[in-house]
Amino acid sequence: MCRHLGWLGEPVSIASLMLDPPSGLQVQSYAPRRQKHGLMNADGWGVGFFDHGHARRWRSASPLWGDVSFASVAPALHSRCVVAAVRSATVGMPIEASASAPFSDGSWLLSHNGVVDRGVLPVSRAAESTVDSAMLAALIFDRGLDNLADTILDVGTADPSARLNIMAANGSRLVATTWGDTLSVLRRDDGVVLASEPYDDHPDWQDIPERHLVDVTGGQVSLTPLEGSS
Ligand code: GLN
Repeated sequence: MCRHLGWLGEPVSIASLMLDPPSGLQVQSYAPRRQKHGLMNADGWGVGFFDHGHARRWRSASPLWGDVSFASVAPALHSRCVVAAVRSATVGMPIEASASAPFSDGSWLLSHNGVVDRGVLPVSRAAESTVDSAMLAALIFDRGLDNLADTILDVGTADPSARLNIMAANGSRLVATTWGDTLSVLRRDDGVVLASEPYDDHPDWQDIPERHLVDVTGGQVSLTPLEGSS
């Protein structure tokens, strides 16, 4: 499983979210603390952020810890809305930059932490890669993020062993699901962080229960159980 993170709030640097925290995504790429599946996340990484309404992305098939160019530039990149991930590729999936989250339809940035049988997903020409996560992202984009809960329920029914942890944002809204892995929220004075696992030991981190949809807009965090879940 991968580890991912989303930010919605005041402009902050990408480095402050991914690289600086003591257990941030950079450290999670080789020493995650709560990872249930896989030992490390060395098969690539990606970050997407909104810049005056435009979704910008930087993705790689190499380990985050070795990217000295990104480490140099990340402190200069600032955004109100960010989706970032480090990847542990599922066996049999391609390792290439286009298989690293976040995926995008131009309006949304989306990361998938988990695994799904590609046989239950419709083939979409819009998928950026043959990796299961890109095919799932294409389906979620097709059906619309407003229908994310229903899409997760449908896919979860079609593949009961799927793990479907999503993190997605469009610049003014950040949404996530828990379906088979951990997620925590940190409400800060300047915004909200959602992350597969806390990036530090601040006491304000709260765990999100399994099979929930989290929706962050205008500083408000709402939690909804995913219906039909057992
Ligand atoms: N199945 C996806 C991939 O291979 C995501 C893997 C994960 O969550 N570790 O990239």
